[in-house]
Amino acid sequence: MRCAAAGQPGKIQLIDFPDPQVGPRDVMLATSACGICATDLKSIAKGAEKPEYALGHEVVGKVIEAGNQSRWTIGQRAVVAPYLPCGACHYCLNGQPTLCKHLFDTCPFPGGMAERVFVPGDLVKRGLIPVSDTLSDEYAALAEPLGCVIKGIEDSQVETGDSVLVIGDGPMGLMAAAVARAYGAFPVMVAGMTPSRLEAAYQNFADVVVDVTQVDLQAEVKKHTSGRGADVVIAAVSAGETLMTAIQCVRPGGTVNAFAGVPDGTTIPLDLRKLHYNQIHLTGSFGTAPEHMVKALHLLDHKKVPAGAIVTACYPFTQIQEAVDVALQRQGLKIVVTF
Ligand SMILES: [Zn+2]
Ligand SMILES: [Zn+2]
Repeated sequence: MRCAAAGQPGKIQLIDFPDPQVGPRDVMLATSACGICATDLKSIAKGAEKPEYALGHEVVGKVIEAGNQSRWTIGQRAVVAPYLPCGACHYCLNGQPTLCKHLFDTCPFPGGMAERVFVPGDLVKRGLIPVSDTLSDEYAALAEPLGCVIKGIEDSQVETGDSVLVIGDGPMGLMAAAVARAYGAFPVMVAGMTPSRLEAAYQNFADVVVDVTQVDLQAEVKKHTSGRGADVVIAAVSAGETLMTAIQCVRPGGTVNAFAGVPDGTTIPLDLRKLHYNQIHLTGSFGTAPEHMVKALHLLDHKKVPAGAIVTACYPFTQIQEAVDVALQRQGLKIVVTF
């Protein structure tokens, strides 16, 4: 099967992997669409000589081969979880599936940016999720990143009427604003530095947008929260400073979520006195479990998240380098590759 993998730094290379044999519990998908994620862009920027996997993990496909014990039939559409909690360890049994030590033992092969995707039996059973006929492939490709966002919003215990500040105007930040709104939060505030993205946020996702290059964020947040600060702050920029800003903008007793992944060794100075006396909840969220992806598809299918405002461009697989270049230049929001 033809796949796109990281090549020279900044470049894609097309390679072929042999198709695995589909056993009685396995399924083979013909890929329909796959979103480009920031983690893909990181691997592409770094480059790889002899890649073992294809890029992409935000994948939608159609079943073209189904083992006789798989309970799937040819022609069904599905999204597939990029990894699978074991369901049996301490973390899985305590509602923290993405802490599972076996999380990456079971993955689709070779990844999403491939003509076909092999789904092993265990993943078929618990991580292959049907897509409703009313949801397009391009939008269904948001199930995985949106699942991560739903987990982040739930970990932050966002409730109806909570004020939520999202710091970051990238696709994940804007999806976090959309999900906060779908969970009943108001006002939802988005802080960023990219005027076009802030405009998109204001049109579709947020009650308040703040261009941090122009306005003092902390003062602006206080203005919209009766002087208290936000009930929940989602830090959706990959930088320590973002978390420091988040701690400044949260109200006493509120929750800060370190949502964006950061490079190794990223640290911040922490005002422990403030943490203690203001009783701030400091938390982090990583990844998604299949149950969050099920919810994501539900929100997408019922238009509770404006997918059309998140997926700003689609490129055919033959033009994947162009799609990656556009994503690397941070043009638009989510770029989806179609097959
Ligand atoms: Zn991703
Ligand atoms: Zn586990």
